[in-house]
Amino acid sequence: MNSVSNHPTTTSQPNNDLMQKLVGRRALLRNGTLVLAGAALTKHQLFSDETASEHAKSVRVGLITDLHYADKSPAGSRHYRETLDKLQAASQQFAADRPDFVVELGDLIDAADSVDVEQGYLKTINKQFSAICDDRHYVLGNHCVDTLTKEEFLGGVGQERSYYSFDREGIHFIVLDSCFRSDGEPYQRRNFQWTDPNVSAEEMEWLRGDLKSNSKPTVVFAHQRLDVSNHHGVKNCVDVRKALEESGNVKAVFQGHSHQNDLNEIGGIHYCTMAAMVEGSGPESNGYSVMDIQADGTIEIKGFVRQASYHWGV
Ligand SMILES: [Zn+2]
Repeated sequence: MNSVSNHPTTTSQPNNDLMQKLVGRRALLRNGTLVLAGAALTKHQLFSDETASEHAKSVRVGLITDLHYADKSPAGSRHYRETLDKLQAASQQFAADRPDFVVELGDLIDAADSVDVEQGYLKTINKQFSAICDDRHYVLGNHCVDTLTKEEFLGGVGQERSYYSFDREGIHFIVLDSCFRSDGEPYQRRNFQWTDPNVSAEEMEWLRGDLKSNSKPTVVFAHQRLDVSNHHGVKNCVDVRKALEESGNVKAVFQGHSHQNDLNEIGGIHYCTMAAMVEGSGPESNGYSVMDIQADGTIEIKGFVRQASYHWGV
């Protein structure tokens, strides 16, 4: 999945730092047999043994956010119709990089005047998005349920639940839904203020249980931000962050909603806000990324056009 130059077996002499890391990990794994293991194996054997399995377990994810697709004229910096061409460019990159799955981080569509027209927007953009990859995940954004109900949106994209988790190759992934009002009512059809996003009590209970029953490195996908307390932030983000931190396994949260690149590290977790596809005109205003996560929790994000790139080691 990674380029050949990064493949561990092409290096015959691992450096000392790496050796220490590997020996340390073996000590952890075999508890007390460090001396034996170290004496019995050459550097190369140890290196291949420990890292080849990790290499095989890396997962690649294609990420896009805030497409706001609608067949309507631009408003301010938002160019709704151009999203189709921008998504096409992202599709070509994903075809080359072959992610294991793709995630759309919310606000796939923008508001229409009627349910029928909105469903037409959803059908158009989802047809193109669906062609990228069979394994797709949709995070609910406030704009997804501006005109539609959650059921209508989820039905339109063929996804059963608005929040859930799944595993791929030893990594745990969680999709969150912060489209609930402070009183617990789900957002739907203009019944909400966009500045009132919450993770519901029921979802919080599910999240705590899900995190408790999992020991794998974990990545979370959200729309509204969990790292800020301004109008872009989830109202009960402190509770959500506490749950994520207490699990000890969450490496990163990917989110959209505020449309610009941003990164905060809180309690050992990276909160990465991704660039919106709808912002600006022309191919130079696009933004999308490919994220690789290794079984040890190392994350590499390759950002394209306006999307920033990051590397987070363990
Ligand atoms: Zn948005």
